[in-house]
Parts: sequence; C-alpha cells; structure tokens
Amino acid sequence: MPRLILLGDEAVALGAVHGGLSAAYSYPGTPASEIMEYLIPRAKKEGPFKATWSVNEKVAYEEALGASFAGKRALVSFKHVGLNVAADPFMNSAITGANGGLVVVSADDPGMHSSQNEQDSRYYARFAQVFCFEPSDHQEAYDMTREAFEVSEKLGLPVMVRLVTRLSHSRSTVETRPSRPENDLGYGEWTDWTLLPTNARRKFGMLIRKQPEMVALSESSPWNSLTLNAESRALGVIASGIAFNYFREAARGSEPLPSFLKVSTYPLPEALVRKLVDHVETILVVEDGYPFIEKRITGMFGIPGKTVLGKTTGALPASGELSPDIVRRALGLPPPASLAAGGVPLAGRPPQLCAGCPHADTFKALNKAREDHAGSSVFSDIGCYTLGALPPYNAVQSCVCMGASVSMARGASDVGVHPAVAVIGDSTFAHSGITPLLGAADAGADMTVIILDNATTAMTGGQPTFGSGERLLRIVAGVGVAPEHIRTIEPLPKNLEANVRVIKEELDYHGLSVIVAVRECIQESRKRRS
Ligand code: SF4
Repeated sequence: MPRLILLGDEAVALGAVHGGLSAAYSYPGTPASEIMEYLIPRAKKEGPFKATWSVNEKVAYEEALGASFAGKRALVSFKHVGLNVAADPFMNSAITGANGGLVVVSADDPGMHSSQNEQDSRYYARFAQVFCFEPSDHQEAYDMTREAFEVSEKLGLPVMVRLVTRLSHSRSTVETRPSRPENDLGYGEWTDWTLLPTNARRKFGMLIRKQPEMVALSESSPWNSLTLNAESRALGVIASGIAFNYFREAARGSEPLPSFLKVSTYPLPEALVRKLVDHVETILVVEDGYPFIEKRITGMFGIPGKTVLGKTTGALPASGELSPDIVRRALGLPPPASLAAGGVPLAGRPPQLCAGCPHADTFKALNKAREDHAGSSVFSDIGCYTLGALPPYNAVQSCVCMGASVSMARGASDVGVHPAVAVIGDSTFAHSGITPLLGAADAGADMTVIILDNATTAMTGGQPTFGSGERLLRIVAGVGVAPEHIRTIEPLPKNLEANVRVIKEELDYHGLSVIVAVRECIQESRKRRS
C-alpha cells in the first residue's frame, strides 16, 4: 500500500475508509471540515461508503448512530463546539451503546484560531464515559481511526478520536494498509436501544461495569508507552497527543531524556501513570487543551511527596496552543540557537470580509437604517458576517453560538429592546435558526431577523447549504412569519438607499419580520465561473 502525504484530517478520513466505513456525516467547522471534504468526492468516485454533509452536528450524530444501529461502521466528525450541538445524542448513545463501530471525531482548537472557545473534548469523552484516542501524529490519526472502529464494536460503545488544529491542518506522510471490507452486524435487538427508564438504568449499569475493561484496554494499548530513566529520578514527563511531539522536539539534543509517559488513549492508563509517579519526584504534564490529565492525577489534594507541574501551576500557559519552544521553557532548557537571532516583527492582520462581500453592503444599509434607532441591538450569529463586529462596520454587538442570534434577539425584545435585530447566514439558519424563529413566530415577537443568503456555507470553505433562495423563503413563511413582513433585498452598493428603506420599515414595525439579503458569496461565484 502506498505512503501518502496527508492532512491530519485526511489521515482520519482515509483510516475510516480503510477501516470498513459505510457512512460518514458531518457539519462544516474548522478544523474538522477537511475530513468530509476528503470523503465526499471519494465516496462519489469509488464508494462503497456514503458521505454527506448534515444540517447540523446533532443531526449528523444521529444519522451516524442510525447507521451504527443498523450494523454498519459509521463516522461522525465536527469541530469541538459542534460536539456541544451533538451532546444530547452523544451522551445518550453511551447508554444505548453502538452496534456497528461508531467513531466520533471531535477536532479541538487550542488557541482559538477560528473558534469562540478552546474547550477540550476529552472532558466530553469522560463525561459520557466512553473510550477516546488522541493521536500525536498523522500516522496515528490513520491507525487509531481504524482501530477506533474495532474498539467501538468490542465495547459496544461509541469511541472518540480527539484531534487538535495543529494536527488536523498539517501534512505528513502516512503508511497505509489494505482496506478491510464493510461489516454487517445486522440490526441486533432494536428494543435494546430504547431508553425507557428501566432499560436506561440497566444500560447505564452496563456502561459503568465496562469502565475497568476500558482502563485495561488503555493500559495494554501499544499507543501508550512508558520510558523510565533509571539514572535520574528528578523529573518525569506525561505528554499526550500532539503535545508528545512537542516534548520530543523540545527535548531533542538534551539526551538522556527524563522518564516519560506518552498518553494516547483514555481512560488514562492508570498503572502506567502510577509507575511514572512512583519513579520520579516531579511530574510535568504536557497536554494541548485543558489540564485534563494534570487535574486527574492531582485530584483535589495532590500527590503526597510529589510535585506536579503543568497548566494549573503556571509551568505551562493555561490557555492557547502549546509549541516546542513553550515546552522547552517548561523543561528548563534554553531556547534553541537558531531562534536566538529573533524574528521579524510582522504587522497585525485582523481578519476581514473579502472586498466586495455582500455582507458589507448589508451592514452598510443596516447601520444607516439604525441611525434613527438609538436603542436598537444587533445580535449576530456565526459565519463570515461575524466580522461585522469589527471596524469599519461595528454593526453587531454579540455572537455566542450557532443559531443564538434569533433566540437572543427574542429574549432582548421580550424585555423591551426595540428594535431587536438578529443577523444570521442561510446555512446557520438551517443549522439552528429555524427553531427559535418558530418560537418567535408563535409568540408574535417584536423583532427583525436578517438572513444573509449567500447560497453557501462560506466561512468554512463553501460547503452546500440546506436553505437558500426560494426554499429559504418557503421555510420562513412555513414557520409562521406574516408574508407581508418577509422582505428581500439585494445587497449591492447601487441598492443602498432602497435597502435602507426596507430595513427601516421593518425596524419600525412592532412585530416579527424577516429580511432576506440575497446575493451569492463572491468567492463561490468566482469558483462557479472559473
Ligand atoms: S467568503 Fe464570501 S461570505 Fe465570506 S467574506 Fe468572502 S465574500 Fe463574504
């Protein structure tokens, strides 16, 4: 089988294909989007698996769970905050269990390169009490995804693969292996997946009883390795996932290395941790994300007679991405000679809308329309248009999570804000804007929703959208917005005055209105025409 140069995301995708994948689902989100970007064309060209974007992460998870119940191997992938959206089926599927291998890939974003937080998915794996792999490089991303299907079927549970941005979006060589065929475990006993209280209590007991088996799996896993330095008992390092690579690079040239434990699976390999802790006086925990391992091993009162260093003690920064240089400092090593000359100062490059972006024209019109409405508030959603918060637009005042613009505007209008405005893209509206609009329509909320219909999921690279054009207008009408207050505008400079007029009319209206700003993303329009 060939050696390939792959993105971390692609290594996961190919590992799944070679591991007998039957169906894959996802909603776009950086840094996980490239998993599905790799799978969709491959599914179309070669099959035999199915790969498709879903309306949102919860839907994606449930689609994968259905495929798993039907006895097939399924993959669901999303960025870390996507797991919040999918948390309901994720948590409950740990109780129902899986049939065909069910692999959940959650790509975290330490440093928040393109996210609103840097939450650590390992907490979710622990919360649900399921097994989790954390690859340290591309080869492991490929191998562990394959193995995750096996572990999922062995345990009868979903299994998580946790990635981080630096692994998802870097390239390296991967040694591939022959594909295994799709499996077909059959449907099993359907009623066993019904979470009626009696059944749920029984199944939760089974999940709890599987925990020692998971710890044993972790302890015997070849992905975890303990190396003890018999000559030195001063320092030991526990490094997990990509942080293990940072440790290796940081410590290169300073042999002999301190004792170290590489952690790649959870629950933690407790016996290996115990051996390292017993062997050394001070333990440095190096992990990208939250101090998950560090807090697990120190508990509330620490380890008597031992010092544990990490993110909670200031030995490593509590937020942001780690790097080999940061780990070097934590190890007490001087900076590498090559860096002594210092870097070239770079000018800051804040993100901004593309020149000619339709959102810019909508924000200009919205700002002008709001000039006479001193008490107005604009709640944004998540997409390119969130950049409307920055100069020169300064057009939106909040952005929290997918779909929240509509619900937040409703809440603000309920307590007297007028006009309360929500700004949401067509893809985000399909993801989770429809349900709050349904509630707002039912309540006759006094607010204006502006849906920016650029016919794509632009921010993550132009994936398809589920509600655009006429279909979007039908959805808006279908949830109960009065037809005379469903307006469309075309955000172009030449239409500025006409658009301001429409927006003003709806801001003045005391009731629910929806304005759909229809103009294709210019990047997508360029792609389409090239
Ligand atoms: S990608 Fe499209 S929607 Fe996003 S900023 Fe550029 S033109 Fe606007």
